[in-house]
Amino acid sequence: MKKMRKFLAAVAAGTLMAAMLAGCGSEADDKAGSAGSGVNAEISDGDADTKPDDAGSDTAADDGAGAGTAADDGAGAGTAADDGAGDKRNTEFTTVSEGVLTMATNAYFPPYEYYEGNEIVGIDVEIAEAIAAKLGLELKIEDMEFDSILIAVQQGKADMGLAGMSVTPDRLKSVNFTDTYATGIQVVIVTEDSDIQGIDDLDGKKVGVQLGTTGDTLVKESLGEDSVDQYNKGADAVMALKQGKVDAVIIDNQPALSYVKSTEGLKILETEFAVEDYAAAIAKENDGLVAAVNDAVAQLKEDGTIQSILDKYIKADE
Ligand code: GLN
Repeated sequence: MKKMRKFLAAVAAGTLMAAMLAGCGSEADDKAGSAGSGVNAEISDGDADTKPDDAGSDTAADDGAGAGTAADDGAGAGTAADDGAGDKRNTEFTTVSEGVLTMATNAYFPPYEYYEGNEIVGIDVEIAEAIAAKLGLELKIEDMEFDSILIAVQQGKADMGLAGMSVTPDRLKSVNFTDTYATGIQVVIVTEDSDIQGIDDLDGKKVGVQLGTTGDTLVKESLGEDSVDQYNKGADAVMALKQGKVDAVIIDNQPALSYVKSTEGLKILETEFAVEDYAAAIAKENDGLVAAVNDAVAQLKEDGTIQSILDKYIKADE
């Protein structure tokens, strides 16, 4: 028993050390100050039971399920749940690297994610920063093709996909989604002089989409495989429209607005093709992270943070 205690104490010390290291110079960690640890991600109001120093207590040692579990397996981890109290929710989670929340995105989707110089900014980035701060983690962003995001999440290369990504039954087969934080509407962009006035006029036309998006699927399902022209980036599909290679582009409303603003001679049709929910995609095995992110999202909705981030990037007259 004595040995066990010692071991757990060592683990706790290691956890603290890692927390201190992880805490260096990160804005996210500063905001998470009350959690008191960059590793032990606390999602509620700082329950003392989750602190590493509890590891040395008899109960922790007896059942072998002390607070050291996070550090034991060497993977980055958070143990927000109270092991001893039989908490109803599983809020224990791991992250790809310790102390870090790795977000997979495709940074060509303004205003959700886009480059400003060398920096990726946007709604999703700010929301992810706020979530990471709540979890006591540092945010790291990995930019990749849109259709690689879910694979990265499934293969454990990223903790969450956050990319203006819509929840669909098909995607739910391979990943879990958190609660939704925003709405996306599939809209149709055409040239100003186009004779296409609504969805019915799209029959037999060529429609540009971004590969692997819900727009891509919708066009294939409603107009047939031959109608769709897939591009790696939404901006490339819009360029193809401008050059007359496609007759229309189907894409989410906010990027559509941003493309139409920056490209002359294009307009968005009034008709809405589909209304969708955006959420973060997380690996199926990591339901603890889903629960922790859901908790963070609920708090950020409640205190108005998410709304103010949306308002910052989406002006009321748009
Ligand atoms: N909302 C769309 C989807 O989930 C497009 C997302 C994107 O291109 N980043 O497929």
